Amino acid sequence: MTTTEIPNWLEQRAFLTPDRIAIKTETKEITFLQLHNHALKKANQLTYAGVKKNDVVAILMKNSIEMIEVIHALKYIGVITVLLNTKLSNQEIEWQLIDSKTNMLITEASFHEKTIHFDKNRLFIEDMPSLPEKAFEVEKTFSIEKTDTIMYTSGTTGQPKGVMQSYGNHWWSAIGSSLNLGLHQDDRWLAIVPFFHISGLSILYKSVIYGITAVIHEGFDAKKANDAIMKYGVTIVSVVSVTLTRMIEELAGRTYPKSFRCALLGGGPAPKPLLEACIEHQIPVFQTYGMTETASQVVTLSPEYSISKLGSAGKPLFPVQIKIERDGIIAEPNESGEIVVKGPNVSIGYFNRPDATSEAIKDGWLYTGDIGYVDDEGFLFVQDRRSDLIISGGENVYPAEIEAILLSHPHITEAGVTGVEDKQWGQVPIAFIKLAEEGILNTDDVIYFCEGKLARYKIPKSIYIVDTLPRNASNKLLRRKLIELIEG
Ligand code: ATP
Ligand code: MG
Repeated sequence: MTTTEIPNWLEQRAFLTPDRIAIKTETKEITFLQLHNHALKKANQLTYAGVKKNDVVAILMKNSIEMIEVIHALKYIGVITVLLNTKLSNQEIEWQLIDSKTNMLITEASFHEKTIHFDKNRLFIEDMPSLPEKAFEVEKTFSIEKTDTIMYTSGTTGQPKGVMQSYGNHWWSAIGSSLNLGLHQDDRWLAIVPFFHISGLSILYKSVIYGITAVIHEGFDAKKANDAIMKYGVTIVSVVSVTLTRMIEELAGRTYPKSFRCALLGGGPAPKPLLEACIEHQIPVFQTYGMTETASQVVTLSPEYSISKLGSAGKPLFPVQIKIERDGIIAEPNESGEIVVKGPNVSIGYFNRPDATSEAIKDGWLYTGDIGYVDDEGFLFVQDRRSDLIISGGENVYPAEIEAILLSHPHITEAGVTGVEDKQWGQVPIAFIKLAEEGILNTDDVIYFCEGKLARYKIPKSIYIVDTLPRNASNKLLRRKLIELIEG
């Protein structure tokens, strides 16, 4: 074996600690040995169904033990796995299947209609138990250079891009996270994020690499998530701001046990009121910044800094380097520019997109398209996406900053800000908001609320009250589509 090879993760884990619990659902628990045996059986069945090494196989499934078994089974065969978002439309799924050159799709009966166009090479998980088996040669080692998964970006700034994530990317992501959070033998990581997002998939990989239990819920339910922490020994949970907010509401003043040591909060900007609520309720929140291209976290803030560095995404994980670039030059501390990152968890590029790849990755450095600054102690503050920046009268205006102020109003439940052309200033910000109750506020009230909290040039020139804001399948706001709400 060369140094670029790692033993097959699940096989090695089943050998090292066969009897530890690998996965716990609300009704079932399985050990690493059982998980290995099930994955091996599924790999034999998939071989019978025609899947072979180096094929591309897509998975469109909801979080379940079966999905985890398929994910591992495909690695045993040496397949490249495409993970599809279950909220995508038929056309979006079709596009991603074609773009990734998928040979076979594994899905579930409930997605029959969604995947009808792929009926020739489609396998339903419900049909697997009756499939015969055929032997194949198990991949005993994983090469760190080999592509393990193709995962599409959320498509917030344009068409989603298929990110090639190698075995090495995932491995280093797991190692980098453990060097930061530490590893406790009794850790239990709650997965309420989908496995088709890197935040979810990385929990499965950490479970086998670390030898800890992944507690999985099919969907998110605040009470069940809190019960898992209060009663079933969960020590770490990965969350986005919406889910953490609902969990705190459901907690209703109770406090989590001491054993609960980390709420890893990522996926987008963290609203300050939420971070303040975490401090108030003694929730050990770790703000984190990462993306599909970095196979999960690159920067994380530990709770000891949650007050002194409120709003920061933290410092880089051990294997990661970060710099801020402005017009090709490294920015000074506290000066904004593009966030650029390097590390063994950074993808080698976008599948079949050499142009997009060479534009984003230069000499191993990934140009994230996000703007931020690093303060004089090395803490990163993420400000916004470069493509959404508004330049008004020569000043940079970050939509995320204005949205955060709007969202701090108790009657505003959603907010989106974009720029429109203006004769005098070049561009000015305008805002779209959703109210908790119809008629509870008018647009003048909103402007009045912003005064004093935002500099004059950042106060939206127009406010539109709307019923829904445009969002993608990852529930992220599509600022580029906001303008269509008034064009019609
Ligand atoms: P696309 O690349 O197709 O436009 P996307 O960037 O939304 O989609 P993801 O990889 O799912 O796809 O999201 C990563 C992005 O999420 C980051 O580049 C950043 O813009 C945002 N993000 C993640 N964490 C944070 C954070 N802590 N603060 C602010 N923004 C964050
Ligand atoms: Mg992106």
